[in-house]
Order: sequence, then C-alpha cells, then structure tokens
Amino acid sequence: MLAAVFTLSASLEAQTLKQTKNKTQTQNRAAPVLEQASKTGPKTGSQVGPEAGTKAGQEPILQARNRTLLTNFYYLSRDSGQMTRGENMLIEDGIITSINGIENSCPECDPMDLEGGYLIPGLMDLHQHLNVGGSGKESTSQKLKLLRRNLYWGITTVYNPNIKLPLLRAVRAAVAKNPTNYPEVFAAGQNIGVTGGWGSVLVNNYPELKIAATRQLAGGADSLKISMDDMSWLSSKPLAQFPELLLRQAVALMHSNKRRLFLHASQAKDVETALQAQVDVLLHGTVDAPLSQKTLTLLARRQTGYISTLALSETISDVRSAVKKMRSFDPDRINGSVLYDNMSSELMAINWLDWWDKSNLLKAKLPVLRGNTVALVRAGGLVGIGTDAGTISIILGASLPYEMFLHEQIGLRPLRVIQMASYNNARILQISDRTGSIEEGKEADLVYMRSDPTAGIRALNSTQWTMQNGSITFRAELLRGK
Ligand SMILES: [Zn+2]
Repeated sequence: MLAAVFTLSASLEAQTLKQTKNKTQTQNRAAPVLEQASKTGPKTGSQVGPEAGTKAGQEPILQARNRTLLTNFYYLSRDSGQMTRGENMLIEDGIITSINGIENSCPECDPMDLEGGYLIPGLMDLHQHLNVGGSGKESTSQKLKLLRRNLYWGITTVYNPNIKLPLLRAVRAAVAKNPTNYPEVFAAGQNIGVTGGWGSVLVNNYPELKIAATRQLAGGADSLKISMDDMSWLSSKPLAQFPELLLRQAVALMHSNKRRLFLHASQAKDVETALQAQVDVLLHGTVDAPLSQKTLTLLARRQTGYISTLALSETISDVRSAVKKMRSFDPDRINGSVLYDNMSSELMAINWLDWWDKSNLLKAKLPVLRGNTVALVRAGGLVGIGTDAGTISIILGASLPYEMFLHEQIGLRPLRVIQMASYNNARILQISDRTGSIEEGKEADLVYMRSDPTAGIRALNSTQWTMQNGSITFRAELLRGK
C-alpha cells in the first residue's frame, strides 16, 4: 500500500499541477477589419508565424510584442455584471493589459473597430465528452476537429469527465502544438465507479481505486471523476451504489495530492453524502427531490461546484423537442443537418426508453431539477454550466447555448447565465485568477457578437469570432474547414 502511495505522489510531482497555456501569440498587428473580412473572407489571427524570440541576455524590444487594439464595443464587466461601454482594449501577448486606458496608444496597431458590438468572456462547457452527440464513433482526427469546433460557439475551455487515456494524450499533444486553435482542455481521465455500478473503470476497494487513480493522473488527468449514482431515477433495475467510505477515501487521496474530485450524483441523498465527504464538484443537477435548506446552505458555504446539466434531462425527457432547440443554436449547421435529423427522429425517443426504462417518467421531475438550480443560485452557491455533450443526442457545441437558454428560462438574467458559464466555471476549475472574465491582467479569451446578450441568450447566434489567448478564430473560418 505504501508503494502505491509513493507511486501516486511521484507521478503527481512529475506533472505540472496547473496547465499553463502556451503564450506564443500570433500577430494581430494587421488587425482584420470586419467589413473587409465579410467581403474578402475573414482574416484569421493565425496568418503570421510566431514572433522572433529575443536572445538570452538581451533586453526585450517593445516592437516584438504582439499587440491588438480593439475599439468601439460593449463588454461584460465582472464588477457590475452589466454590459459596459468600451472605447478601447489593448491586448499584449495574449493578455488584456488595458481597458479604456488613456495610454492605449499603440502606433503600430491598426485598431480593430468592433462597431458597437458586444464582448463576453470565453465560455466553458464543464461537462463535455469528445463526441458530436451521435454514434460516438469518430476517429481521433475527427475528434480533434470537434474539439476545435467548440470555438464556433465561443467555448474556450472544456472539462471532459470521461476520456480514454490514449485519446487524452493525443488531445494534449494537439493542443500543446497549436494552443490557440483549440479550447483549453481539462480532463478526469476515465470515470471511476464501483463493481456493478456506473463507470468506465470499476473498482472493488481502496487499493484498487488508488491504482486506478494513479494511472489516470499519470496519464494526464487533472482530477478524478467518480460516479456514485445507482441510476434508480432512470432505471427500475438500479445499479450498485458507490460506497460512502470509499468516496471519503478517494476525496482524501485527491486532496492530499492537491487535486479535485468531481462526482456524478443526481439524487438528493447522494448530494448529502458528497458534502459529508468534501467532494469538490457535482457534475449533474439534483433531480429526484428538492435539496433541503441545510444542504443548500452547506453547498453555498463550501462553494461546492454544481453543474445542473439541464440539457441532459430535457433531452432524455423529450429528445425531439430538445434536439430541435439545439439545432436552433447551430445557425450554420456546422454539425450537419443529418445529425440533427437523426437525433430528433421518433426512433431516438424509443431508444432512450430502451436504455433507461424510467426515462419517460423524468419529465415530471424537471420542475424539481430546475427548482434546485434556482434555489442554489439564490442561496449564493457556485453554480456553473455544463451540458453532458457527446452523450447521444446531446450535440457538441450547440448544447452549450441551449443549456444557457434553459437557465435563462428558469428565470436567471442572461448576463448572469453568461457569468455562470465563464467566471463561475473558471472558479470551479480554479483558473479564475487568469481567465473567465474581461479584466486587465486576464487572458484575452473573448467572444464577439453583433447582438446585445442583455436581451437574451439567443444573441449568441450573432457570434462573429472567438478569441483564444489573443488569437481570433472566425465562425466563417471554421465553416470552411468543417
Ligand atoms: Zn457525462
């Protein structure tokens, strides 16, 4: 057992605890002019190679910096939670160095006039599997294309709670090679469950769990995901429940290694157990019963991350209607019309019943699920946004604005929902010190749209481009490469 502990610690030390994005920026000095872009095809932030580095011992020369000057826009301010007028924003080497500064003169910059459009922080999907949401049989290169496609919806960060280690390695390599071409990826490796229960790697006891955890983290996972759900809310033949003691041991193991434990739990009693065990993040909303005031208070006090995955339950309840709505957030059908047609067919509803025989009963539970989300937001909880995209019928990318739209529909202000999908998600991933909001000193991870999102999440359909660490990817560019 000691050997196993040593292996885990050693493997953890060998890795950097925090991912840092490659700061190599592409030059935006010849800033794209939007009008021109629409005529001649969009320019990209990736048209120029990496800057020439300065030699060791030399003073860095100012001109070597990659600078972009944005002018004439509104941006979502973290402090006010409102759209705020921006005269200018200077981005240097991928970092926002100044907003509305008087010193924002950048003589060599060709200012990029945003024509009164709207900037929000890069969005994050905190529950995304790397499949489009159909058969799930994509090749590795197709999966990398899907990962990149996230930028179409302004998604600059994803958390993958269940990914095979060879694929994770391929993803890490691709992102390291072209960090501005993809969202930043956080991942749990393979989802761990108990024998007879839900999960991709099934264990019987603590020694087995420790070996599994060691493998995942050594293989590139940032955190661990455990499934504790017996799935009795979806199936009349429940699976084995993940034991409470083993959960406590798993959390202690992760915390002693400065890692977080994400949990699949969907039922109120499991949330209480998870809180007792000091779980860090709940990856699904609570669907079977209202959370008690005591639980809400504790979730808020601990700032336990809570991801409702409303899109998942909506899809299981009424796949045809849910997929139609997801399609409405893919205005260019970048995922292909056939996918949406197939996934909203009558057959899919029958399939869901085949897989989970109580899925037709879920519709009656939706008010409970929604009520728990609203109650936790009101209680001051750390509620983030994630979709379970890649699960069949939950369409990658399009499901994120849909998930946000569902949060708007339960009564949350659109700009608040955007902050949940950016700042709250960044806090859940513990990266809010460097991204997740539009502030000086933060990474330039931005989404630019023509319509005002104050009026509604539908404005996300007017997205023109996504900026990842200062580098712009236009929607049109992704459409060409699909
Ligand atoms: Zn999932």
